[in-house]
Amino acid sequence: KEEARSRSEERGMESNKKRKLDADVAQSRKNLKVGDVRQGSECPYMDTINRKALDFDFAKKCSVSLSTHNVYACLVCGSFFVGRSTGTHVYYHGLHENHHLFIHLQNGKIYCLPEGYRIEDPSLADIKQNLHPRFSISEIRDIDRKAVYSHALDGENFLPGRIGMNNLGHTSWINAIVQCLVTITPFRNFFMDLENYKSCTSLLVQSFGELTRKFFNPRNFKGQISPHVLLQMISEASNKRFKIGDVCDPIEVLIWFLNQLHTDLGGSKRRNSSIVKRTFQGTVKVRTEKEPTEDNKEKPKGDKMDTTDSSSRISFEKKPFLYLSLSLPNAPLFRGGDTELFIPQVPMIELLNKFDGLTEELSQEGIRSTYSLSRLPPYLILHMKRFRQNQFDIEKNPTIVNFPIKNLDLRQYCSMDGIFSSADLRSKTLEELRTIMKKRKLSSKGCLEKGDLINCIVKAQPSVDTIATRYDLVGNIVHEGDLRTGADTAYVLQKSNGQWYRTQDLHISETLPQLVAVSECYIQFWELKTI
Ligand SMILES: [Zn+2]
Repeated sequence: KEEARSRSEERGMESNKKRKLDADVAQSRKNLKVGDVRQGSECPYMDTINRKALDFDFAKKCSVSLSTHNVYACLVCGSFFVGRSTGTHVYYHGLHENHHLFIHLQNGKIYCLPEGYRIEDPSLADIKQNLHPRFSISEIRDIDRKAVYSHALDGENFLPGRIGMNNLGHTSWINAIVQCLVTITPFRNFFMDLENYKSCTSLLVQSFGELTRKFFNPRNFKGQISPHVLLQMISEASNKRFKIGDVCDPIEVLIWFLNQLHTDLGGSKRRNSSIVKRTFQGTVKVRTEKEPTEDNKEKPKGDKMDTTDSSSRISFEKKPFLYLSLSLPNAPLFRGGDTELFIPQVPMIELLNKFDGLTEELSQEGIRSTYSLSRLPPYLILHMKRFRQNQFDIEKNPTIVNFPIKNLDLRQYCSMDGIFSSADLRSKTLEELRTIMKKRKLSSKGCLEKGDLINCIVKAQPSVDTIATRYDLVGNIVHEGDLRTGADTAYVLQKSNGQWYRTQDLHISETLPQLVAVSECYIQFWELKTI
């Protein structure tokens, strides 16, 4: 009984104290005009701010109630609370800990509480820039031109845009993807400028945009970043298909992510309808030929049986793509009785022969397909099919692909729209040639023979030489280990200083282009060179 009484007395004193504090606060607020704004020099608590305690990479929710609306960060200890009026978690945290300065995590306004006035001071700009980094058009333009190191609060130097990323539990896949995507100039620049997507309601778009802007923030308090919020949004938007704790296949994540961004940004089927398609979409021309069967065999024409004409069995189709998959040759791991591990090698050009318009692929239904590229994207994503599901497990093909870092020329795989080679034209009838000329408003005056018509068309069309077909490598993802337990590393080119970096989670190191070329590449990002 005695104990119970003393406890209730204690509680009474506690609530008396609370009431008195509330009354004091109410009194001090009465002296305050609504919307009172003061400068830093007028606030006695400015030197209690501890920038090292601030981390805005995490989900913006109250550490007590988990609410995500109207959340503030304490500028003294970094904790997040919902607030800021009397009786809220911010309010009590401030009173109990004697912490007075809070920043609203959505609008970035800074308040002194419980006094209740707002502070505007240039010395707080770095905190706001860490919460919501903003960049001018000229700052965005300079990203690929100037490499200026920044200092983190812990004294370490870092290069904005080439910083380490925390691994939150088997999440190297998102780190490798982000390191590559922020290297793709137009794609990155789109997300650097909030004006491009500020009205977009997709949390996936907003979180990727925020991560991109934090990545390049020269005033970052730390030389690293946590993809926590982006991973949460990916997990939600993909119905937990990709989530923290799971080793994911980076090509599956990448393609899902790009398609989702495209949709969320309001993209349609049109080629230029989103930054995703503008950057990565190309077109492949597929020629399919069905096997002659009783049904589609040419009907006899007159008395003659014509089996040479196969035009009714051949069809052409143009398919848009965001990436191209390349099959690796099946090679034995062991050579003869040799016990030494033998890793086969194959030149990239050999893998690309799939798109030479001649190499046939035969489907189970007996359909022969050939492929060629009818439109090259500004950035080409290549995927080496290293993983294959067999009866028991996912098998990895360790074949080394040899490729040049610069000037990968895809000319021989291109069948450009509307550009005919002389050979193409020679196979056409006079009638067809005249139709082409009419469409192109070319005069056939003075053309006496078929050869004249062909010359006339060839002269008037752009030369194949004026079309850009060469690519330089800018990003390369390597999946080390098997698909269930392995980790992803990204090799990326920093354009501002021409340096290649090897990035794995928090580890960023300079590397040589030769080392990129011998890596066990899995996903590559190529940039089309302008002529
Ligand atoms: Zn605090």
